[in-house]
Amino acid sequence: MTALLRALLLLFLPALCQAASLPLIESPSALLPAPLMQVWQDPDGQADINQVKQLPASAWHTVGRRDASFGYNGAVYWLHFSVSNPSTQPLDWRLLIGNPLLDYLDVYGLDGDRVFQGGDQRPFAQRWIEHRQLILPLQLKAGEERDLWLRMQSAGSANLGASLMSAKQFERYEQLALLGQGLFFGALLAMLVYNLSIFLITKDRAYLWYCLFTGCFSLYQFIQLGFALQWLWPNSPNWQQLSFPLSSAAANFFAVLFTHALLELNGRHRAYTYITRSLLLCCLAVIGLALWGPYRIALFGSFILLFASAGYGCITTLLRWRDGYAPAKLFALGWSTLVIASLFSVLSGTGLLAYSQITLHAQQVGSLVELVIFSIVLAARIRQTQRERQISQSKLYAKEYQLRLEQAKSLQLQRDISEGLESRVQERTASLQYALHELSTANQRLAELNRRDSLTGIFNRQVLNDELDRLISQAKRSHQSMAILMMDIDHFKAINDQYGHLLGDVCLRHAAQRLQHRLRSNDLLVRFGGEEFVAVLCDTDPTGAVELAEQLRLDLANNPCQHQDLSIPLTLSIGVYALQPEPEPGINRELMLRRADQALYRAKEEGRNCVVSFHSKYFAAS
Ligand code: GH3
Ligand code: MG
Ligand code: MG
Repeated sequence: MTALLRALLLLFLPALCQAASLPLIESPSALLPAPLMQVWQDPDGQADINQVKQLPASAWHTVGRRDASFGYNGAVYWLHFSVSNPSTQPLDWRLLIGNPLLDYLDVYGLDGDRVFQGGDQRPFAQRWIEHRQLILPLQLKAGEERDLWLRMQSAGSANLGASLMSAKQFERYEQLALLGQGLFFGALLAMLVYNLSIFLITKDRAYLWYCLFTGCFSLYQFIQLGFALQWLWPNSPNWQQLSFPLSSAAANFFAVLFTHALLELNGRHRAYTYITRSLLLCCLAVIGLALWGPYRIALFGSFILLFASAGYGCITTLLRWRDGYAPAKLFALGWSTLVIASLFSVLSGTGLLAYSQITLHAQQVGSLVELVIFSIVLAARIRQTQRERQISQSKLYAKEYQLRLEQAKSLQLQRDISEGLESRVQERTASLQYALHELSTANQRLAELNRRDSLTGIFNRQVLNDELDRLISQAKRSHQSMAILMMDIDHFKAINDQYGHLLGDVCLRHAAQRLQHRLRSNDLLVRFGGEEFVAVLCDTDPTGAVELAEQLRLDLANNPCQHQDLSIPLTLSIGVYALQPEPEPGINRELMLRRADQALYRAKEEGRNCVVSFHSKYFAAS
């Protein structure tokens, strides 16, 4: 109920009474003096406190907002309000200025003529209370009413963010705030260290960019919350001024690199590379501007960059999401959180959004959530990589299995082929050997046939030529005798004429058989030509030869050729020549044959059907 009354009072008081003073009554939340404040914008910024006090009431305007925020125009604003102590006790209160980046703040009426001079463009030591924010002690006697004048100027956001609370309340608030900030920076530090260690192990650049991004962002927050001026550079207002856009642009720079690495944009589309490079160049330009250029341009540049990179991050994330890249979903959530948080911060800075504890910490909380999400995305990316590796590994296994199967099949095929080949080769070899055997048998048969006379079946003249020389040499070597019988059927022409050639052939076969039959197995009988036969008798002297010739003659004469009902008598004339154990020199095959032939002629001359030896009386003279 009290709170409702207070709210109504705060809403309507400025309208009802412009000069109303704010009663300092302790309540659970801080008092906001801004709605009761009167503001006057100093056109040239030269007015002093006396001139301001004498300004007509019409020069002043009611602020009428929960915060006193006038945007980024760099003008000098005078604010006037009064507070009162309705109690009967003296009060010890604090006026908190919630914007630590305010360049200059002069406060009149706090302690007699003493002027409070603060702001981050003044050395930290000038502050009455050593605090990251501008904290002004406000002591009121019982029932006292006090007018306060504030002169505010800032190149950044002219945002006062004033609140009032008792000293005790402030102490409690301060402890809570420090706990909150400690947790915030602790969380940032933890994530930085965690991801840095992962980078050191994996050497994945995404982690490095994340760490540098988190580092720069932490610095940016440290500056924005006033810690940097208090603890890092208390005597360097210049550095304090430029460090804000500088850290913002640096954080942006690494955020862009991080996004590029995390979403694996490299080599995906040329547009990604171009935009990333352009954004990085813009970041470097803003860093350059912050260091050497006009502060306000650098500040606005850093804001624009923030939105440009956040927008680009959102779009690329959505595009990658559409591509089916799983970590992009979470990443999109992270970006949205950052964009919303940044919107809160920038809009409250411009005054479009009422300054409050929510807007003050929105960016902090939002960015913390975003960084946590990004860290989770990095972890999810490891899982994604692991899964991809698992998938490719199982694909490899499957392929390897397939290859092994193929290999086994081809080995089996090879084995089958070689076995088949072997058996075929064996078959072929066997059939070849068989064919060779057949061929050699055929050749042997052919050779044998070549040695035989086709009509009579006894050896032919060629055999006589081949064998006779060998037999002569053998007889000479072993000093043995040997003989040749030259035999001719008598009047054979007449037989042919009488019975015909076919029967003549039968007679020739009959004669050959009879001769072969009578001869010894080691004697050689050949058909010499026509109706003539030659017998070579081994180890036979002239007498033995004549005897055998006589037996042959008689045998044929006594055994006519019988054919059907015909009996054809056949007689032989035989010429004999024998080689003595000591033969005359120069004797050879032709000579032996010629001499046997001469004996045969002699036998024909003697009346046929007889035997004549070359060694007989007929040749004694020759
Ligand atoms: P000679 O008593 O003087 O030896 O008289 P011949 O008739 O036996 O002698 P000739 O040399 O005048 O005749 C040989 C004949 O033998 C002539 C030929 O027709 C015959 N003759 C030769 N070879 C064959 C053969 O293979 N078959 C047949 N049927 N006759 C043959
Ligand atoms: Mg003849
Ligand atoms: Mg004859």
